[in-house]
Amino acid sequence: MARGLVERVLLASPRGYCAGVERAVETVERALDRFGAPVYVRKQIVHNVHVVRELENRGAIFVDDEGDVPAGSRVVFSAHGVAPGVWASAAQRRLTTIDATCPLVAKVHAQARHYAASGYTIVLIGHAGHEEVVGTMGEAPEATVLVESVADVEALELPAGTKLAYITQTTLSVDETADIVASLRRRFPDVHAPAKEDICYATSNRQWAVKKLLERIDLLLVIGSANSSNSNRLVEVARAAGVDAYLIEDETAIEEAWLIGRSVVGLTSGASAPERLVTRVCDWFRARGVRCFEQLATVREDVAFKLPVEVRRPAATNAA
Ligand code: SF4
Repeated sequence: MARGLVERVLLASPRGYCAGVERAVETVERALDRFGAPVYVRKQIVHNVHVVRELENRGAIFVDDEGDVPAGSRVVFSAHGVAPGVWASAAQRRLTTIDATCPLVAKVHAQARHYAASGYTIVLIGHAGHEEVVGTMGEAPEATVLVESVADVEALELPAGTKLAYITQTTLSVDETADIVASLRRRFPDVHAPAKEDICYATSNRQWAVKKLLERIDLLLVIGSANSSNSNRLVEVARAAGVDAYLIEDETAIEEAWLIGRSVVGLTSGASAPERLVTRVCDWFRARGVRCFEQLATVREDVAFKLPVEVRRPAATNAA
């Protein structure tokens, strides 16, 4: 990078860890402290390779399927939630389970169960194959239809008189989801809506914080892993407004060619990216002569969730 080319880095706030991720990561850390290694974790506890690697170094073993956990062992379910079938298969294998599902994901599962029990067909707005979507659909697979876009809604064919309700994945684009919901309402005016938006506070706040940056930056860098839904949405928010944006795992992924002709670079991080990665990216810019780092704060977050009961008390008091 030509020295002095980028003059300023503007940091979005809020960014990074949300309450659900804090809780999930601490759950595994405490499980390791309290029960010792290995602690099995079904899927990535949160979608960030740095976090997963660090927990692996401490003795966590990540598996794709509960069937890969030795019978009788302890397993943590990830923040993204699991389908009822996973609970059943864990019970069959006599696994000791610790549920790190984010309470806001668990709320969507509860809505799915409620709607299915009340005879509704459920439209789930979300991304096919995402772990959260797989888990939520598993609550009522026969009653649920997945839509990913306005086009999917337009193509929906349902028998006349179908009682319809919608729920959403928690980490979607606020704007795209509003379009999908508007299309649903147009086609099915009686569709039942959840009492409160399913897109979580952290996802909305991080998108809002990026929007506030956009008119002041030439480029946005989003720290997050490729499979992190909310991080990808932050990139899309910028691109939708005509601002170039890239998702980076960490500072090693920055391509200096991206920075040519940019004087102000925006920086944010997805809900599963630890703040130390932001520090590393800032250090990378500092090493290249950038001296001005500014934060643009929008809302203050004070959400916190209780840890799962199995790890709530610190390890020392549980020795007996
Ligand atoms: Fe929970 Fe939202 Fe964080 Fe997902 S992004 S873990 S739903 S708070």
